[in-house]
Amino acid sequence: MSKFILPGTTLSANNVFCIGRNYADHAKELNNPVPSAPIVFLKPNSSLCTQDTPIVLPSVSSDVHHEVELVLAIGKTGKNIKEEDAQDFIHSVGLGIDFTARDIQQKAKEKGHPWSVAKGFDTFAPVSNFIPSQEIDFSNSDIQLSVNGSTRQSGNTSDMLFSIPKLIAYLSTIFTLNEGDLIFTGTPAGVAAIKSGDVLKASLNDSQITLDVQVS
Ligand code: ZN
Repeated sequence: MSKFILPGTTLSANNVFCIGRNYADHAKELNNPVPSAPIVFLKPNSSLCTQDTPIVLPSVSSDVHHEVELVLAIGKTGKNIKEEDAQDFIHSVGLGIDFTARDIQQKAKEKGHPWSVAKGFDTFAPVSNFIPSQEIDFSNSDIQLSVNGSTRQSGNTSDMLFSIPKLIAYLSTIFTLNEGDLIFTGTPAGVAAIKSGDVLKASLNDSQITLDVQVS
């Protein structure tokens, strides 16, 4: 893809790491067990877009779900990062929506196939402006999503099964984290289908960070 510059920063996006089932209430709503280690998958960086881009519903799915998530942008290279040092590697923070073709994902799960298709369509990863990480209390931030004015998802980062320092430490045991890598940190309960014309508004701590997208 052409370079995707993270809104509000000069960083160009690199890998997009995502965490599955990081809030117990969301794992439960999809009848999934609560994991004993973080569930990791990737989205292609071609799925990234800004909030000015209309979300495109792929014709091969009839059940695309929203998953609002806190997104971390990594600011420097790190491997085997200690939890107590994790904050130093976070450049900035934003909101994102991990759109998921649930019908395609469900079939993939049943067959033991990867989730890349279900998670990877163009415009399936809109992100907000990013703000400096020092401005956010990672252990206690409210995260919300409304669709057409009705609240659908509402959670707090204190309910994460794996805290942000734990996620960074864990991911960096596997991958070398690099500047511009993004980490989608998982979604609270309330995921549901979107349809053409829907207006989605995500917010962190009322309006410390906002992300507004429309489904085309
Ligand atoms: Zn997700």
